[in-house]
Amino acid sequence: MEGLVLRLIDYGESDQITRLFLKEAGVISAIAKGIKRSKRRFPHHLEPFRVYSFKFRKKPTQNLYWIQTADQVAIFTGIMEDIRKIALGNFFSEIILKAVKEGHPQPDLYSFILSLYRSLEQVEEITPLWFYSEIHIMRFLGFLPNFETCLRCKTPILRDEANRFDPSHGGIICPRCQLDAGKVGINIGSEELGILQFLKNSPIQAVSRLRITKNARTVIEPILKAFITYQLEQPIKSLSFLKEVME
Ligand SMILES: [Zn+2]
Repeated sequence: MEGLVLRLIDYGESDQITRLFLKEAGVISAIAKGIKRSKRRFPHHLEPFRVYSFKFRKKPTQNLYWIQTADQVAIFTGIMEDIRKIALGNFFSEIILKAVKEGHPQPDLYSFILSLYRSLEQVEEITPLWFYSEIHIMRFLGFLPNFETCLRCKTPILRDEANRFDPSHGGIICPRCQLDAGKVGINIGSEELGILQFLKNSPIQAVSRLRITKNARTVIEPILKAFITYQLEQPIKSLSFLKEVME
């Protein structure tokens, strides 16, 4: 079964316990018994940002799969050479671990994560891919933000107005509705709104053409972070580290 390593913990002297994201089976917990001794069963280390072909013992015991063999079939070296790329890749892992239930297959999200790895390996400007990944991972998890129409009156958003983003409802509130609703959410300017609309509605290949100024990044970063944290009802720790290394 094809899959990725999300997390890895040493267990005893020669074993490792891992959380894997399998293309066909979703997130699972698995033990690699004797990984530090057997080069035959484990010709490669288990590491994040690689794709493996796993063979498991037939049935998991108490939801713990036993890895019989793991063959590495792809490696994203370009990610591992850049601390900022590692930080973004760790965000992908954390959000999957926190938001995808064990044993629920998510093949489309799995394929999307691989396309993020491929792009992350190539890009020089990481910020556009960072925000792109936040919007679209949330889309796969069932929380698509609305940057196009007002949450309350449903009229199309005019970018030049004093709009605000409401993270708890995942969308924009226009100035007229703010009069009724009071000041909820976060100010969002025309440039930032344009970037978010572009990222939401573009294919991943378009992302590398986008340039995001430091100012725009300072506005968008807390908006998407608040949205994710609110919708998933828990903090995503890797986002703080990511912000730090991207400064
Ligand atoms: Zn409105």
